[in-house]
Amino acid sequence: MANISEKLNEAFNIQIKEELESAYLYLGMAAWFEERTLNNLADWFKMQAEEEFEHTMKFKSHIIERGGSVHYPALAEQKQDWTNIMEILEAAYEHERYITSKIIGLHDAIKELKEYSSVHLILWFLEEQVEEEDNISSLIDKYKGYKNDFNFDHHVKRTV
Ligand code: MG
Repeated sequence: MANISEKLNEAFNIQIKEELESAYLYLGMAAWFEERTLNNLADWFKMQAEEEFEHTMKFKSHIIERGGSVHYPALAEQKQDWTNIMEILEAAYEHERYITSKIIGLHDAIKELKEYSSVHLILWFLEEQVEEEDNISSLIDKYKGYKNDFNFDHHVKRTV
């Protein structure tokens, strides 16, 4: 039996779309790097995409545990025509900031709806977003220290 409200169930299903589209975005970025033999950056973004898939599964499992219903939506095509590394890194950072705002929105909804059984899940995601934003902004900071993209790519291998 469902003990999650329809409203929160729906909001979580929408977040599933956000997480899958994040994976989709990062896969496109990974392909861009791989096409240019920036293979460590490609791996970095592939790993990021895998994490987004894990996020999706976390929401999926939670919905089912609470007796709700999971709906996998059609995904929107993501931007893939990048011009340089910095454009990608900044877009990834902006994307994580956007996702953070969505998670905060879910936190507000949980409070409003008194859906306290989902508080722990969303606190986990709030903390995860701190890490996600920090990961990508650290990568941006490191990139600024390199004049050559291949040197930077080599550095990514050592630190991630
Ligand atoms: Mg995510």
